[in-house]
Amino acid sequence: MSSTNSAVTELYCAKCNHKYNIDEIHTLCTCGGPLMVDYDYKKAAGLITPQLLKTRPSTMWKYKEILPVKDDEHIVTLGEGGTPLLESKSLGKKLELDNLYFKDETVNPTGSFKARGLGMAVSRARELGIKKLIIPTAGNAGSAVAAYSARAGIKCMIIMPKDVPAPFLVDGAYHGAEIELVEGSIKDCGAKAAEKVKSEGWFAVATLKEPYRIEGKKTMGYELAEHFDYDLPEVIIYPTGGGTGLIGMWKAFDEMEKMGWIGSKRPKMVSVQAEGCAPIPKAFDEGKDAADEWPDPHTVAAGLRVPGAVGDFLMLDSIRKSGGTAVAVSDDELMADTRELAAAEGIFASPEGGASVSALRKLISNGLVQRSDRIVVFITGGGYKYLDVLQEYMP
Ligand SMILES: *Cc1c(COP(=O)(O)O)cnc(C)c1O
Ligand SMILES: [Zn+2]
Repeated sequence: MSSTNSAVTELYCAKCNHKYNIDEIHTLCTCGGPLMVDYDYKKAAGLITPQLLKTRPSTMWKYKEILPVKDDEHIVTLGEGGTPLLESKSLGKKLELDNLYFKDETVNPTGSFKARGLGMAVSRARELGIKKLIIPTAGNAGSAVAAYSARAGIKCMIIMPKDVPAPFLVDGAYHGAEIELVEGSIKDCGAKAAEKVKSEGWFAVATLKEPYRIEGKKTMGYELAEHFDYDLPEVIIYPTGGGTGLIGMWKAFDEMEKMGWIGSKRPKMVSVQAEGCAPIPKAFDEGKDAADEWPDPHTVAAGLRVPGAVGDFLMLDSIRKSGGTAVAVSDDELMADTRELAAAEGIFASPEGGASVSALRKLISNGLVQRSDRIVVFITGGGYKYLDVLQEYMP
């Protein structure tokens, strides 16, 4: 065995702190809470340093000592992570911001940051001997799990709504995934997947229902720290569905503090959702610790159409602790800003990226950001798989 020198120790429940063995297959805690991965941070700090990381190739696996895969042989990679942080050339000036950046996740394999989470989940599934993965999805997560499963030699099944855009059917099929279309929304897909887990023995990699997707997404937090020389930016704007990125980055900041790489200062975490599906902004405004399920969710930004999330309480907690906020934007606003990103910055984004920019406008008009703040706007996916939608909103 060629060890990754991972400092991983065990799993713990984010709700009740119950511990689980890392070498066993687990889903949710018996209390229903999501499971998180714990490490020996002293050991990790002895194995890697910011200086050492600078010398490694820039993929998410450069952080492998603080990632959960134990044996190099099980790393399933297509080169995910290490994405550019682009300085704004035009929008920043227009908005009178001096330090606006875009974290360009569109260049990941399969066209979105889902590659990080599912690259990690599939790698750990391989390590744990899991042979068949199933996922209920409205798009990008299906593409990613299909691609990584193909590379890992693991069987894959994707459950999608009947009205899913064609590209997601096509790439899934090319990767050899079994695809099942369901009448209804992502929720109905989830129910169908749960049925198949019971009757056919599939393992579900739905958001936060297994512990490892978040470990892939947290690498975005490590990359930002590295880019800003371990002095974290003032504001992070993140388009939120299940919230793995938000929760993952928050965990990464905690881990870096435990390793002595950063202090206790945190960026303001800003969650963005669409007005047609905004459970997190609603719960935030109402001062609640958890979100109510959103009835009849709709938005063109498919990645944000998540009416209820397992990690809602974690998102709300990190947003509040960071002094951040949660913002809802309309489809017209987010599509206008998807055009703006392409025309003003050369970034051809999926609608979720536009939503981040629309949220930034709201923060400015509410006086929640300063001109000098270093602001990072997440562009989570590329536009090419959304041509149908983008065409409807052509300039
Ligand atoms: C899935 C997805 C999101 C939401 O990500 P979460 O981590 O689930 O909150 C945002 N943008 C795009 C393009 C997505 O595919
Ligand atoms: Zn628990």
